[in-house]
Amino acid sequence: RAKNRGKNTFQFYTADMNASAMARLKLEYGLHRALSREEFHVYYQPKVNLASGQLVGMEALVRWQHPELGMVSPVEFIPVAEESALIVPIGTHVLTEACRFTRQLQLEQGFAGRVAVNLSGRQLKFGNIVDTVRQVLDDTGLPAANLELEITESTAMDSDQEVGRALEGLRAMGITLSIDDFGTGYSSLAYLKRLPVQVLKIDRSFIAHLHEDKDDAAIASAVISMGRSLGLSIVAEGVELPAHRDFLREQGCHMAQGYLYGKPMPADAFRHYVQQFRVA
Ligand code: C2E
Ligand code: MG
Ligand code: MG
Ligand code: MG
Repeated sequence: RAKNRGKNTFQFYTADMNASAMARLKLEYGLHRALSREEFHVYYQPKVNLASGQLVGMEALVRWQHPELGMVSPVEFIPVAEESALIVPIGTHVLTEACRFTRQLQLEQGFAGRVAVNLSGRQLKFGNIVDTVRQVLDDTGLPAANLELEITESTAMDSDQEVGRALEGLRAMGITLSIDDFGTGYSSLAYLKRLPVQVLKIDRSFIAHLHEDKDDAAIASAVISMGRSLGLSIVAEGVELPAHRDFLREQGCHMAQGYLYGKPMPADAFRHYVQQFRVA
């Protein structure tokens, strides 16, 4: 009996593994075709200045419209793309699309905001990123001052020389650099001070409950005051409630992004959002 049960368990486990391995293979295979089939779409989420209420820019967030699976979340496919090095061409595609769209908004309606694009560590290490960004700005006509690049805390803390050089090169071009998901990694404050970074984005896990959890509120206000004293601009992500907004504004947080202001939306919807924002 024990032997039988063992065997059944083993079979079940194998079938289970096959299913997840298959799903992953399907994703990876699909990713290879997705670029040429134009299955990636860039969505935009507004970002506002908390003191003035003005729209100051947006974050570009990639979406994948898979022919069978439907909309696949970047949380699922970005890690796969990172492991297979496909993140480099995908990242360049998102960057190009975001810069082109932002330039259009400038020309069409005098939009003065900044677009923020997420970068993976791999793009900074192997992607020849400084040349790529220069080329994209040249091709699209977007001024460097209107581009912000977000890197995660762990990428920022990577001691790889190539990463440091890339960040310095981007900064020298006049691009704004920000640290994404701040608080989820292990930043050394001393290191943070030496990085050519101007913006800290507080991870939304600290924002979601700050109206009901004293610890989260304490963490958020500590990050705000630490960041401010280092001369950084602070963005809170995942701002969903007026209570979040009021607390953050009171604590001196500069900017906010979240469902309270708008979900990530397709380019056309964002264009209308900008128009309405100007009228309001
Ligand atoms: P992120 O850069 O931290 O982006 C913020 C995420 O929080 C987005 O998820 C956004 O939709 C979500 N979010 C914003 N406001 C709220 C809110 O009020 N409530 C809640 N519950 N969620 C909110 P999304 O679009 O699913 O993207 C997930 C992650 O995927 C991003 O996190 C980023 O790390 C990565 N990602 C997305 N696009 C790209 C890309 O083009 N390149 C790279 N390398 N990574 C990307
Ligand atoms: Mg981001
Ligand atoms: Mg973020
Ligand atoms: Mg985040």
